[in-house]
Formats: sequence, C-alpha cells, structure tokens
Amino acid sequence: MSPSSPTNYLLSQIEPHALMAFEGRLTLMEVIRGQVLQEPGAEVEYVYFPETAVLSAGAETSAGEIVNVDLIGAEGACGAFEACGSRQAFARLAVLIPGKTWRMAAPAYRELFDRSSALRTAVHKHAELLIAEARQFVACNALHTVENRTCRTLLDLFDRCLGERSLPLTRDTLAQILGVQRTTAVAAVASLQRAGHIRTRRGVIEILDVAALRRTACTCRDAVAFARREIQAADHTACEA
Ligand SMILES: [Zn+2]
Repeated sequence: MSPSSPTNYLLSQIEPHALMAFEGRLTLMEVIRGQVLQEPGAEVEYVYFPETAVLSAGAETSAGEIVNVDLIGAEGACGAFEACGSRQAFARLAVLIPGKTWRMAAPAYRELFDRSSALRTAVHKHAELLIAEARQFVACNALHTVENRTCRTLLDLFDRCLGERSLPLTRDTLAQILGVQRTTAVAAVASLQRAGHIRTRRGVIEILDVAALRRTACTCRDAVAFARREIQAADHTACEA
C-alpha cells in the first residue's frame, strides 16, 4: 500500500506531484476496533483517509447516548472539512471495522489543501455527497423498517469492506448505527438470521446471501449510489466559473 497509489478516493484524486511532495507527511496506520481517534470538542489534530478500515462519526447526547451518524471508508475522509474550518471536532470518531488508514497532521493537510485544486474539488464533492446521504437517511429513518435499514447498513459495510462477508459487528454497535434500542436491533438480526440471509457468532455478523439482502434493503441505497455516481462523474473543479 503506497501513498502514490492509494485506495482512498480523496487521496487518489490529488495530482501526483502534489501527493508526492506530501508523501512523507502521510502515515499509514493500523487501527483496532473501538479505538477512539477524535473526541468531540477537541481540536482536530489529524485528517484520516481510510484504506481498509471503516470509521464511524458518533453524535453524543447530553445523557451520554451515542448514535453513529456517519460511516467513513475508503470513499471519504474524517476531519477534511473541520481541519480547514473551525478546526474543532463535533463528533466522536471511532474505529468500527479494524484495518488500515492514512493519517496526516492538520497543518500539513491545510498546506496540501491550499496547493491542490484537485483535492479541493474532491473534498467539495465529498461534502456534497455527505449532504445528499444525510438527507436520504433522514427520510430513511422516518419511513423504512428497521429490517430494511439493517439490510442497507450491512450492505453499506460489505461495500466499504471490499466484499468482506464477515463483519466484526456487535448488536450494540448495529443498534448505535441504526439509532434504535438494542432489543430492536436484536429482533431485526434474528429475523434476517431465520430467513437465512445472515449468520451471527460472537461479535461477528456474517452475510450469507448478498442478493437476498439487496432484495430486502430499502431503496435509499440506490438513491445514494446514484448521487455518488453523479457527483463523482461531474467534470467541474470546485470553484470553476
Ligand atoms: Zn431507506
């Protein structure tokens, strides 16, 4: 895994000469499940560009409850907006699926952002996609069943883990992603298991039938995939007149 040929979408968009100039300031690190990379309220010290790891951004209530509001894999980055804006984190960033991620210190990232118009365009597209996803998922949470949403979530993770069928995912974590009580997540998992779509073992949900999950998942997945294709294919630079 080399910085000159990253899997991460944002890094892959950067002009080769700009990426090469910052190669020494990118660190590839192995992260483990549950590792907290950023606490809310803290200054953003690093920007993360996942390769095989999946990170989750969690919103915390005053009662200490956490809902994972965003999953970030190789298609995105964490801290890419905040490092150039308020420089403050508003979400708790933790590792959902262990693996590898690139990390760059925020000051170096700001230099790179300033130097690379391709990175600015990619970050702008990433923001547009996150807004599209957030809108879709507000509708999804209001309208679609927990079982449909569980299938969508498992398929989203399956894609982000590059087709890995055994997802290191507890029912507690799934409940946090879905924003439901643990008992509700347990019931949805049990129903999918009875149908033969998935199998569970301690701390792992294994996907047995991808096609069945696709049939059961809500259509929000298709809507987000359509938005991603359109946004990524748009051939404009971020500030083109
Ligand atoms: Zn939906």
